[in-house]
Amino acid sequence: MESLETKKIVPLEKRNQRVVWPHISPYREKNPPMIVESGEGSWIEDSNGNRYLDGMSGLWCVNVGYGREELAKVAYDQMLQIAYTPMTQSHIPAIELAEKINEMLDDDYMIFYSNSGSDANEVAFKIARQYHQQHGDVNRYKVVSRYRAYHGSSMGALAATGQALRKYKYEPLSSGFLHVAPPDNYRKPEGLTVEQYNIQKAKELEDTIIWEQKETVAAVIMEPLITGGGILIPHHTYVQEIERICRRHGLLLIIDEVICGFGRTGKAFGHQHSGIKPDIITMAKGLTSAYLPLSITAVRKDIYEAFKKEEENCHFRHVNTFGGNPAACAVALKNIEIMEREALFERSAKLGRRLLDDLEELKNHPNVGDIRGLGLLAGIEVVEDKVTKEPGSSERVSKLIADCKARGLIIGRNGETVAGQSNILALCPPLSSTDEDMEFISETLKEVFHENIS
Ligand code: PMP
Repeated sequence: MESLETKKIVPLEKRNQRVVWPHISPYREKNPPMIVESGEGSWIEDSNGNRYLDGMSGLWCVNVGYGREELAKVAYDQMLQIAYTPMTQSHIPAIELAEKINEMLDDDYMIFYSNSGSDANEVAFKIARQYHQQHGDVNRYKVVSRYRAYHGSSMGALAATGQALRKYKYEPLSSGFLHVAPPDNYRKPEGLTVEQYNIQKAKELEDTIIWEQKETVAAVIMEPLITGGGILIPHHTYVQEIERICRRHGLLLIIDEVICGFGRTGKAFGHQHSGIKPDIITMAKGLTSAYLPLSITAVRKDIYEAFKKEEENCHFRHVNTFGGNPAACAVALKNIEIMEREALFERSAKLGRRLLDDLEELKNHPNVGDIRGLGLLAGIEVVEDKVTKEPGSSERVSKLIADCKARGLIIGRNGETVAGQSNILALCPPLSSTDEDMEFISETLKEVFHENIS
């Protein structure tokens, strides 16, 4: 072991790299993870004093931006009041938050608390299976999901995920998860309107249910729009069609709002753009703006009825120690209060439209295939060739991201297209971003693209 004095002269990046295992990143000797020391608004500062606009809100989650004293204060007060209560009991912030979520959903849902988006989705799958069993539908266990979607890192949520590179080294995962292709409007076949193509994609999902024997299928899970898999925004009829298919075949519809929830798409929840009523809704990230970990599985009241009977073995046999932590619930309530007070959902819609307008000219760039977005969530699809739509090479995409970072802008990368390339640049800044922040984002992107023309 080194002495404290020796440790102090070793750079933080080196100390970090010796002991902290980074999430989902390759080991990089020359370009180690940066050490973030502070944040204010949309900006973060690293241990070398460099400032960056966090164009990804961390991992799509810091919706109200950094440095909110109100959130720290409410957590502090709640920890002194009562630091912990297992959710076999309950507490006031849990009740108030559940009531608030129902108000936002404009319907009656039972709220089950967990810690992360993955947890929330696991809970949704277990509830769907048990619900059907308790209705005598004992063969319904399969869950239909989509390729390119991400639903979490645990064995069930990863099984629902449709991105092979994240999965194949950890297989076999939980069984009973099927995938169908989502609509990718940028790559739709010629000759179909976007609406016709989206209806065709919904029909493919229905065919899968029928071929699998519909009495074996418990649920469909999907995001209102695929976020981490490439910002794939469906036509609203697709989402409505999926709801109708679920109803027609007796399946539950699980909507994953882990990223899309809490204003990210310009409405409280992403599914509200298409007016559907999901059976189960999962939420995390923006729920607390990631100031503390918390997630929710919201389950429609009529589904809960199957679990409400007082007979033995009808209840949901699931518990987690930290889910519904009182301070996390109090932070979530205050976070929602801030978003409402500052009209951040409306701001997200407005800034998102402005961002797309500002970036419009980039569509003429030879390596920009498509720019799409909804609310403050946008994707720039990088291509090698606009006609063939060949995905942008790994080197090209990495260079664009590195050049943005060198100018103080952090953006994301995702996609995993058919060719296995992550060729989509993701933008997901805090909903509280200022007009100047937005200008910085679009100006930096334009500069970087104009310097990278091949
Ligand atoms: N669902 C979606 C749509 C997500 O984007 C994520 C995380 N990026 C998850 C679920 C899993 O959330 P967590 O990382 O909190 O487990």
